[in-house]
Amino acid sequence: MNQPPRIRVLFDEKAIAQRIEEIARVVAESQPKNLLVVAVLKGSFMFAADLIRALHRAGLEPQVEFVHLSSYRTGTVSTGQVEILRDVESDVRGRDVLLVDDILESGRTVVFAKDLLMARGARNVMTAVLLEKPGKRAVTIHADYVGFTCPDVFVVGYGMDVAHSYRQLPFVGVLDFLDKNPGLFDEAKT
Ligand code: 5GP
Ligand code: MG
Repeated sequence: MNQPPRIRVLFDEKAIAQRIEEIARVVAESQPKNLLVVAVLKGSFMFAADLIRALHRAGLEPQVEFVHLSSYRTGTVSTGQVEILRDVESDVRGRDVLLVDDILESGRTVVFAKDLLMARGARNVMTAVLLEKPGKRAVTIHADYVGFTCPDVFVVGYGMDVAHSYRQLPFVGVLDFLDKNPGLFDEAKT
């Protein structure tokens, strides 16, 4: 019988929405100049969309860009390679950039993107991640804005997928079959 997988909710819609308003307020207090939000596709699209609107409510007028990065993994371990699948179009020189990603795990994706934007002459690159998995860091990176600290489990929803599914969920959760079989999907996660 084909039962749909059960999903354990880790961070619900209300908690996410409240946290995003708080983050946007703190970003606005830092008075960024000529702010450019760069969302790392695909996983951060929902977080970025909500954060951008919260930034508007907080009084900012950011421009918005996207970079599509892929970090490749073997099993549950990141291989350390990050590839640009789609680059930003805007000139970042002299600008305050807010880099937005879904999860800070090894840290390689965010470090790669931050170094890239700094090398292109951004004035400052701040980083905002919805989730941080503290136990998994392979490189030193401190995210300026963190939504929630996340347990070391594979999460889906609110933009994040497993094998291209579950991005549409309005909350972050854990699939019970992945809870029991971590590392079931050995593939690129974007
Ligand atoms: P890092 O480069 O920090 O090791 O990896 C971060 C990227 O891996 C995230 O941007 C995300 O795309 C992916 N990732 C890490 N953990 C998870 C997870 O639990 N669920 C999903 N769907 N993607 C993850
Ligand atoms: Mg990603």
